[in-house]
Amino acid sequence: MMSPPPEKLLIGAHTSAAGGPHNALLQGKEIGATTIQLFTSNQKQWEGRELTPEMVSLWEKTLAETGLQKIMSHDSYLINLGSNKDDVLSKSLIAFEQEIKRCHQLKITFLNFHPGAATTGTEQECLDQIITSLLRFEKLCAQGTTRLLLETTAGQGSSVGHRFEHLFYIISAVHGKIPIGVCIDTCHIFSAGYDIRTEAAWEKTLEEFDSIIGLKHLYAFHLNDSAKPFSSRVDRHADLGKGEIGIEAFKFVMSHPALKEIPKYLETPNGPPGWTEEIALLRKFAHENQKYYEKLTRTNP
Ligand SMILES: [Zn+2]
Ligand SMILES: [Zn+2]
Repeated sequence: MMSPPPEKLLIGAHTSAAGGPHNALLQGKEIGATTIQLFTSNQKQWEGRELTPEMVSLWEKTLAETGLQKIMSHDSYLINLGSNKDDVLSKSLIAFEQEIKRCHQLKITFLNFHPGAATTGTEQECLDQIITSLLRFEKLCAQGTTRLLLETTAGQGSSVGHRFEHLFYIISAVHGKIPIGVCIDTCHIFSAGYDIRTEAAWEKTLEEFDSIIGLKHLYAFHLNDSAKPFSSRVDRHADLGKGEIGIEAFKFVMSHPALKEIPKYLETPNGPPGWTEEIALLRKFAHENQKYYEKLTRTNP
């Protein structure tokens, strides 16, 4: 099967929805993106934004005009579906329900979320609470087409999701009831202790992901370099090639046959002008390595 040309690969960034969600699409178009991630609501507030019919129709019109695909929403940073505190948990469940509803209104493909944090409880209690929380949305999820993606975390503080085993534990309990999957954040897995600095290291990490979770559950990437060292469990994004990971890791994801067609979203501190360059660079990697991998496929059918 022929893979799509580099300019058609889905690459974008987390753009700004200030002034209305359709603005995130317009900014995506400006930076040469073919997809985007956005916050459908203020990520630092419990109170969610209500989408008016005007906002939804403007979104639909802009989506058609820009031709962007597989839009991803990132949930609020306040939401903790694994909280052991009743008040935080109930606020989280309300905010997450509203988030799913907004995603359905905007026909968003992926809702990316941080699995949760144990705070004063145990990791096991947290994982079990996340499963219980997710299963409450079985009926609601069936009413739309949005897939919920567990984001790999750096393991900062008491957050879970920094081991592939955590994600598999959740997926195996909700799979078939909730549309679920994984988004790999390159900065986070690196900080969590999965090396991706060389081709050999990336291959090993990918094999580990495949054997524990299964590559079929991988739906998206957040592409970020890391300002903090390997295994530091600190989440600080850096521009591509300007952190502790280095540029080779990003050549790998743009060339590997199992990864190159998976949608990718930048969350680098760069901002719009830098994203234009990073997106162009990623397409260049895909283009350069296309020939290399075609040769590889011919010699090893
Ligand atoms: Zn995130
Ligand atoms: Zn991320």
